Amino acid sequence: MTEICPKCGLPKDLCICGTIEREEQRIKILTTKRRYGKTVTIIDGLDETSGKDIMKQLKRKLGCGGTFKNGKVELQGDHKKKVKDFLLKMGYTEEQIEVI
Ligand SMILES: [Zn+2]
Repeated sequence: MTEICPKCGLPKDLCICGTIEREEQRIKILTTKRRYGKTVTIIDGLDETSGKDIMKQLKRKLGCGGTFKNGKVELQGDHKKKVKDFLLKMGYTEEQIEVI
């Protein structure tokens, strides 16, 4: 039996709800200081699945520590520029990404 999307009622292979959701995401990239003056880069606005995936890829790419908690990706160090470039390569648009 074909799986039906509960949102639009279309079979999953025709449903584009996931795509729309992704296009509507608003992502914020910011840096903040933590204990002992360490800078961390926060990516806010990603859903859990893409957030965890992006966190893993960025950790590998940037060679830094990172976590995903409370709906936010947290990376050790200041990587605002690199994170934005990476998200653009992933298919997110300039309009979706706000660097604070
Ligand atoms: Zn749908």
